[in-house]
Amino acid sequence: MTLKIAIDGPAGSGKTTTAKLVAKRLGLLPVDTGAMYRAVAFECLRKNIDIHDENAVSRIVDNIQITQKLINDEIHTFLNGEDVSREIRSPEVSEVVSIVSSYKKVRDKLVEIQRKIAQEQDVVIEGRDIGTVVLKDADVKIFMKADLKERAKRRFKELREQGVNVSFEEVLNELKKRDEMDSNRKLAPLRVPEGAIIIDTTNKTIEEQVEEIIKEVKNKIRT
Ligand code: C5P
Repeated sequence: MTLKIAIDGPAGSGKTTTAKLVAKRLGLLPVDTGAMYRAVAFECLRKNIDIHDENAVSRIVDNIQITQKLINDEIHTFLNGEDVSREIRSPEVSEVVSIVSSYKKVRDKLVEIQRKIAQEQDVVIEGRDIGTVVLKDADVKIFMKADLKERAKRRFKELREQGVNVSFEEVLNELKKRDEMDSNRKLAPLRVPEGAIIIDTTNKTIEEQVEEIIKEVKNKIRT
């Protein structure tokens, strides 16, 4: 029996951490699709590509190879073989990633990579369009949400721990802007997928989120 779990939700809702832990508990491969869009944005910034020039950004994805590998329980993202996991988390990348991810060529290429991974292995795959586009037939679909302020608090803490010097207001505004862009874009906007279980993580610990998803998966397998 195969098992594909799709997790969608806005930035800072806890998707990546939860996906990693659920995957570990169930022996599945965790996939972070946001990191792939971030890798494209990072490559554009590094090559001084005008982020608003759709043709130029599209040419970048023609010659790009993006892979992920689990190392010591962490998802590492490789861009043409180079580990860029740390670089793609910078505020500069966060600032432009939603622009890059609105382009058709970028989405087509990354969706193809994501579907191929999910075809070859059982996965817990998280992003914005997993249950609506990438894996419409996923066995379990989860939509994670949380209040904007709580999400900003989590992201702020995470960035500070990594030594990134940002203010709480900057983080809050960046999340708000990305929420708006990701929800209102023409292609694959952030939506609650049909049949998804909605989990509000505002007042939940990571352990509670993981338990809730595991419970849903077990229910699904039984039926
Ligand atoms: O998950 P994360 O916040 O790292 O995602 C970064 C950005 O990548 C999102 O704000 C969104 O613009 C884009 N993204 C997307 N589709 C996905 C995953 C992420 O458009 N499946």
